[in-house]
Amino acid sequence: MSKDEMVIDPTRRTTLLGGAALGLGASLGLTTGAAAKMPFAATQAPYFYRFPVGKFQATIVSDGPLPLGDPAASFKGVSKDEIAKSLTDNFLSTDNAVLEQNALVLNTGSRLVLFDSGMGISKAFGPTTGRLQRSLLQAGIDPARIDDVICTHAHIDHIGGLVNAAGKRLFPNATIHISKADWDFWTDESKIGGDLKAFIVHARTNLLPYKGRIAWVEDGKDVIPGVQAMAAPGHTVGHTIYMIKSEASTVAFIGDTTHHQILLTERPKTEFAYDTDAKQAVQTRLKVFDMLSKDRIPFIAYHFPWPGMGHLARQGTDSYRYFAEPMTHVPMPPKKA
Ligand SMILES: [Zn+2]
Repeated sequence: MSKDEMVIDPTRRTTLLGGAALGLGASLGLTTGAAAKMPFAATQAPYFYRFPVGKFQATIVSDGPLPLGDPAASFKGVSKDEIAKSLTDNFLSTDNAVLEQNALVLNTGSRLVLFDSGMGISKAFGPTTGRLQRSLLQAGIDPARIDDVICTHAHIDHIGGLVNAAGKRLFPNATIHISKADWDFWTDESKIGGDLKAFIVHARTNLLPYKGRIAWVEDGKDVIPGVQAMAAPGHTVGHTIYMIKSEASTVAFIGDTTHHQILLTERPKTEFAYDTDAKQAVQTRLKVFDMLSKDRIPFIAYHFPWPGMGHLARQGTDSYRYFAEPMTHVPMPPKKA
């Protein structure tokens, strides 16, 4: 065999190199296959995502994944088989529906605003929630500098992160903006004995320390300049969504208008177990979806896959498709004033 033949014979070449590697391993006292190039990393990318809205700067900050468990227990009015087929067709787990929690910080240049605040210390959905403070830190946002916390509603996973375990305000300088209907419903002490106990207790724990710092949001009115409230009842009595506008840009923060990018989007008439009035929630969902799709408005859905921003397009009768916005990982500063 010539020297050239040796070089181009892949079998022989592998054997020769393999032998050499084995020899080196043995001389270092390593057993075959156990030597890693580098240790496996335990960290993940920071849980925030930043983008401009006209002159504003927006940062989505996560409170972490919220696993709901069996999808058929939460999504109602559709057969178990149909749910399983939709999930399988979309390469999603059929036995655990995992929601994200996409809170939003908006810097308008003159105010620093947080939309919704996660589960806080409640571990009702397991250990992966309650990351908001860590995500804010990763994003370089000081909670003490938040001027306003704007809430879509008073459910456990939206108002939960307002106080720490000692009941102390985590946003000490903030005004809380929420609908009066939701405040009245979810802080109502007389409901503590009923089915909603965990929700009522958590709402009272997180909201009452802000008494004297509460402002009511009202349908059609500006909460702060550039943020308009829009009543979207059904999921809760006072569920409210927000239109964020600066210059020619608009982004909607739609809270819990929909909880799932497939199950409540392809079939928006599906009911959700945690809705206060599921029929009204369906009507609201259809109305909001119609507006978002017709006007091509980008939106942030609190529970959609991270970071939860995208568009909706109508697909047939009473069915929609979600298009996630591509993420951009180069600096995109807001426009200069
Ligand atoms: Zn929610």
